[in-house]
Amino acid sequence: MKIISIETKKVDLELLEPFRVSLGLITSLSTVLVRIKTEDGYVGYGESAPLSFVTGETVDSVISAINLMSKTLIGMDSACIEKIHETMNRTFRENNVAKAGIDIAIYDILAKRANLPLYKYLGGSKNSFELDKTISMETPEKMAKLALKVKSEGFNIVKVKLGERPKKDIARIKAIREAIGSDMTIRIDANQGWTKIEAIKIINAIEKYDIEVIEQPLKYWDLEGHSLVREKVMIPLMADESLFSPMDAIKIIKEKAFDSFNIKLMKSAGLHNAIKISSIGEAAGYQCMVGCMGESLIGISAGASFIAGRTNVPFGDTDSIFHMAQPSAITGGFTVTNGVVTMSNEPGLGIEVEWDKL
Ligand SMILES: [Mg+2]
Repeated sequence: MKIISIETKKVDLELLEPFRVSLGLITSLSTVLVRIKTEDGYVGYGESAPLSFVTGETVDSVISAINLMSKTLIGMDSACIEKIHETMNRTFRENNVAKAGIDIAIYDILAKRANLPLYKYLGGSKNSFELDKTISMETPEKMAKLALKVKSEGFNIVKVKLGERPKKDIARIKAIREAIGSDMTIRIDANQGWTKIEAIKIINAIEKYDIEVIEQPLKYWDLEGHSLVREKVMIPLMADESLFSPMDAIKIIKEKAFDSFNIKLMKSAGLHNAIKISSIGEAAGYQCMVGCMGESLIGISAGASFIAGRTNVPFGDTDSIFHMAQPSAITGGFTVTNGVVTMSNEPGLGIEVEWDKL
């Protein structure tokens, strides 16, 4: 069951429309796909999708980190996931995006070898779940139109990017709620864009618009600030950029800084730590969402498998496939109808890849 090869391939993903969040404007995206082969004939696919302003990694750094880690990983037993992570952690303290690509490909192999779809290998809590669709930060009028479009596509949940000054952000939520009516769920992501005072002011002003949750109001390092804001508002706060590792999860719980977790496989170095983070959350009464970076169907299928696999992960935000044209050489995974994802019953990720056509 030895690992015999680890390959990478850079793939450019075309954005259907430029996407603006408080951290910057995203106009193009590249990702790194990973293919691992084992002695007993299995092939696993993974993905390392860096979003440098969140993860600190780039396509080039991911490829060189994977090449370096491969030197020790090739020859190791692919069944020993804990040892594989130990070995990767001895090579790099961080580089979680690079590690995620390897982790996902190994989990694809482990599930294929068990002849189970990955979501069942991870626990099989459910075979379908509801997804949100995110809208870019624009003028209130344009965001109201975008939210209506999300509704017309059959989604019941819209995720709204905010993170500018109070007057503008409050106007955005007012316009969106008035446009879509009262039935649809609104979740918000401020992407670290507010100060403490702005956060308290905005969150209290928009409480009347029935908001499910607000992601990451303040800077990623400011757990104390989040804890202070949390005491003064009634809408729950979700950790995103503040949460990479299981150790971060413990710190957040100790500081009472947030109410729930947004796990992303690119932040957590893949599924292995995602399991640990969601288990820590579960034991502390924190529910989890799984979000994504600019990922292809491979990364998204791994995230979807994790949501479907775990009881403590009821919230789905793996929506990058709706914002980017997907390479025709990658197919399978799952189906989406009216915002509801149904998992495939094929072994592993259930993804077919024509590697040479990428
Ligand atoms: Mg977020």
